[in-house]
Amino acid sequence: MDNEIREAIEDLKNIFPSKSSSWYRRCLKRLRSVKLVKVDPLYEYWIVEGDPSLGDRDRVYFVRYDVRNKRYICTCYTPTKRFSWSRAKKVCTHVGAVILYRIVKRKYLMKYEA
Ligand SMILES: [Zn+2]
Repeated sequence: MDNEIREAIEDLKNIFPSKSSSWYRRCLKRLRSVKLVKVDPLYEYWIVEGDPSLGDRDRVYFVRYDVRNKRYICTCYTPTKRFSWSRAKKVCTHVGAVILYRIVKRKYLMKYEA
């Protein structure tokens, strides 16, 4: 594993200190299936491919980042209404994977632009 990814997981643990070790492991496993699809001034739209080995029922999950309120919303929060956005009480590992992806990307940019 790259140092950047190792450090990013430590950062993720600092952001969400009370998650279980399996939560961080699941975020890491999802890292490769994270894709940024669209950015506009208010929102970033991400997709995370579903992974049946992690209990996912959907082929893809949509994660939306609210730039002004710094909030993430995932379609797995509303399984009956797949494409509606709702607020979640806890952070799912799709959102965790997007956050991890952003941290990793930033670390690589810092490394190669230095
Ligand atoms: Zn989710």
